[in-house]
Amino acid sequence: NRTPLIAGNWKLNLDHLQAIALVQKLAWTLQDGKHDHAAVEVAVFPPFTDLRSVQTLISAERFELRFGAQDVSEHESGAHTGEISASMLAKLECSYVIVGHSERRQDHAESDAIVGRKAAAALRHGIVPIVCVGETADDLEQHGASAVPVQQLRDVLAELPATGEIVVAYEPVWAIGSGKAATADQAQQVCQALRQVVAEVRGDEAAAATRILYGGSVKSGNIAGFMREPDVDGALVGGASLDATEFAAISRFQ
Ligand code: 13P
Repeated sequence: NRTPLIAGNWKLNLDHLQAIALVQKLAWTLQDGKHDHAAVEVAVFPPFTDLRSVQTLISAERFELRFGAQDVSEHESGAHTGEISASMLAKLECSYVIVGHSERRQDHAESDAIVGRKAAAALRHGIVPIVCVGETADDLEQHGASAVPVQQLRDVLAELPATGEIVVAYEPVWAIGSGKAATADQAQQVCQALRQVVAEVRGDEAAAATRILYGGSVKSGNIAGFMREPDVDGALVGGASLDATEFAAISRFQ
C-alpha cells in the first residue's frame, strides 16, 4: 500500500536552463514509456535557483512529475542570510524537501537536532521532508550497518510532532558516488530497522505507511534488486538522475 518513490537528487548540478531541458526530456521519456505516476511517483530535486523554472514548466505542461528542494532553513524568516524558508518552497509548490543529506551533515556540520528542526519546518508548511540517515565506512566497521542510522533517525524524530507524513532515506555514506552500492539484502536489513524506529516513535500504523528509500550508487542495473525487498520503498538517486534515459529506466525498476 506504499506508493514507491523514485527521487532524483541533482546536487550541485545544472542551471535553470539545463534544468528545463532535463525535466522536459524526462517527462517525455516517461510519457513514451506510458509511466503510471500513480503507481510509481517520480520526483526531481534541483538546486534552489532552478525551482521556479521547473515549477513553471511542470504546471504549464501538466507533467505529473513531483519536485522539491535539497535543503531548507529551520527558520521561518528574518536575519538568516543565504537561507531559504519552507514557506518559500511551499509557494513554489514543492512536494518534498531533502533534509540531513550526508553531504550537508559533513560540509555544514548539520546535527540530528538541526536536521529535525528543518524537517519540522517543512511539516509546518505542508511539505514532506525526506530525512536522510546513513553510516560512514568507519561507522560500518565499528558498529555495523544499522546502529548509526537508527540513532540518527531517533534523534531527528525527537524534534518532530507525532504526526505528519515523512519519508526516510537510508544512504550509507560509503555507497554515495562510489559505484559501490549496498547489496539489496544490506539495504533491507537497515530499512527494516529504520521502520522499527518509526513504529516505536510514531506507532505501527505510521510505520506501515512511511516510505523508506535506499540511496547510494543506484543505477538501472541494480534498482530491481532493491525494489524486491519488502522494506525498501524506492530510491534516492544522485548521479544517475542527471540522465533522463537512465533515470526513466530506474523509475521502471529496470
Ligand atoms: P549517487 O547515486 O550518485 O551515489 O548519490 C546518492 C545520493 O547521495 C543521493 O542523495
